Amino acid sequence: MRHLFRQKAGAEHERTIALLPGAVLAAGLCVTLLVWLGAMAEARTRVDARLAIWQDRIAHAIEHRLDTNAQILRGVASLFAASRDVARDEFRLYMQGVDLWHNAPGTEVVGYVIPVPDAEKAAHVAAVRAEGFPDYAILPPGERPLYAPAVYLEPFSPGNRRAFGFDLASDPLRWEAASLARDSGRPVMSEMTALLRDVESRGEPGYLLFLPIYGAGEPVEILPERSRSFEGWVYAAFHMHALIAATLDLPDFRDIASLVAIAVYDGDNPAAGRLLYATRNRPGAALERGQPTLARTLTYGGQTWTMVIAAEPAFTASTTSDRPTLIALGGIAVSLLLAALVHVLLLGRRRVSAALGEAARANAKLSEREQDLLLAQRIAQLGSWTYEPATGRSHWSDGMFRIWGLEPEQGAAEGSFEQVRHLIYPEDRTLLEKALRAAAERGRPYQIELRIRRTDGEERSVLAIGTPQCDAQGRVERVTGTVQDNTERNRLQQALREQAVRDQLTGLFNRRYLDETLPRELHRCERTGEPLTLAMLDVDHFKAFNDQHGHAAGDAVLREIGTFLGRSLRFGDIACRYGGEELTLILPGAEADIVAHRLDLLRGQISRLVVLCDGKPLPAVTVSIGIAQANRGDLDCLGLIKRADEALYEAKRRGRNQVRRATV
Ligand code: GH3
Ligand code: MG
Ligand code: MG
Repeated sequence: MRHLFRQKAGAEHERTIALLPGAVLAAGLCVTLLVWLGAMAEARTRVDARLAIWQDRIAHAIEHRLDTNAQILRGVASLFAASRDVARDEFRLYMQGVDLWHNAPGTEVVGYVIPVPDAEKAAHVAAVRAEGFPDYAILPPGERPLYAPAVYLEPFSPGNRRAFGFDLASDPLRWEAASLARDSGRPVMSEMTALLRDVESRGEPGYLLFLPIYGAGEPVEILPERSRSFEGWVYAAFHMHALIAATLDLPDFRDIASLVAIAVYDGDNPAAGRLLYATRNRPGAALERGQPTLARTLTYGGQTWTMVIAAEPAFTASTTSDRPTLIALGGIAVSLLLAALVHVLLLGRRRVSAALGEAARANAKLSEREQDLLLAQRIAQLGSWTYEPATGRSHWSDGMFRIWGLEPEQGAAEGSFEQVRHLIYPEDRTLLEKALRAAAERGRPYQIELRIRRTDGEERSVLAIGTPQCDAQGRVERVTGTVQDNTERNRLQQALREQAVRDQLTGLFNRRYLDETLPRELHRCERTGEPLTLAMLDVDHFKAFNDQHGHAAGDAVLREIGTFLGRSLRFGDIACRYGGEELTLILPGAEADIVAHRLDLLRGQISRLVVLCDGKPLPAVTVSIGIAQANRGDLDCLGLIKRADEALYEAKRRGRNQVRRATV
């Protein structure tokens, strides 16, 4: 359960980690957005500041233009103040010198106006008419206490002539400005109005700038003084839009004019009906497009105008650096890079943990294998070892210690031949030492059966195998070997072998053993020169004995004869059950006569054997024996058996219970 929970938590943790690149990317993009917004705001502030600078410059230039008109008027006023009578021609000449067209663009006319009381009206009209203007009259007609007709006008163009004789006092708008100028001694601007020259053509609206003329040298500090010395006005009528257009056409503003939109309104707010001037690209449109827009007022001669300036995209672009764009691109790139980096790191981490997992599994498998190997060694009563001749290092498996009756050393499985040397039988030890040297020095494998006495005193038989491994140059790198305890196996083999050659009933060797042994014994005696005698023994009338006493009784007799023979024969004599109640004896090392004598004694003892069956003694049995001695150089087993058999037959024929020698 806890394992399951841990697995679940681990999977959740892995899923959280998998989201990391996305989170890094999102965080990076957020930071980029914030920095970009900051950079954009800063850029916007810079645009606004630059726009304000340009707006101020343009406003000052317009005010300067307006002031130019006042300067011109001051010049004219000085002219009148200087000479009491300025003739019309003198005024014209002076104005030609001023050159309005070039020096005051937008200014259409400069006029000279004098106050005419009603009493002097007739004389005034007569005087002007006498100058060659027979149609001159004060306009509009009608009688008023005071008239203020424009008497000189330059340029005296047909359009401007409309103002010739026009009574300023008849027009409240003009008269208000004129009166204020007269009383204040300063240039005063009229409100926006249609110029007389444009009345019919309905041209652009204009303004009139009035400057009072006082008598030369007279004090004009205070109003009564100014009223006393007042002589008339000079004024300039101008079109504001032309003045502004000319201003923006100055070399200073030609470039900026294409980068901004400008509109100028009469009054202190941008009211649509009071638009005086606008560049072709209206500021309103720029404002709608979200471009920076600024408004400010400018004043002159008591009048106020509102100027709106808006940046065109080109202006914004020329002011803004590439910083925000670079920040955006850089931020996005860095965010992507970081996310990619985190992704790659996670990938690496995943691979490493997979590799670690794989390694852990491999280790577990390995230790499983090791355990299997140890178990296999324990089952097989096997120990393994390795030895490196170059370093002298050796390693023993647990089984190796066990075979010698030693305790495996915990952890450090460093065993050595020295530890067990004394446990090996001396002659086997010499053999093994020789074999070990040959393996370590010359790469010779070996396989030796050793007899050992373990530390617990038990005698054991072990099979020691050594297999050297050589490098490319043929040097022995390592010798790997096993030692297997073969004691039990040898015992088992021995038992099996015994079973294979022994006759169950009599305990004597069987016919198979005879067949194997007789040729060997014949050869051995031939080699050593010893005599060899073969005897065939047969129980007499055994069929009848069986019939009479039963098969079990027969068996008991045969068993008893076998035991007796095994007990009575000499070391080196071999007794076999040839078949049924017939036995064969191989008797090496003795001549036939001596053998005949010994066997005759045995025959007598057999006839006296007391055999019990079911606790009751059976009648004695006798045996007949035929013997034959092997001839020198004659290795024919069958021939020898046949001769002994013939001798036995002869013993039977002669009355049984006797020993007969085969005739050579
Ligand atoms: P002879 O004196 O001529 O040898 O007479 P015999 O009756 O012994 O004749 P033969 O050798 O021809 O008979 C062998 C008998 O031995 C036959 C069988 O009843 C008996 N016999 C053979 N093998 C065994 C055995 O393993 N156990 C018993 N109880 N009887 C055996
Ligand atoms: Mg027989
Ligand atoms: Mg018999």
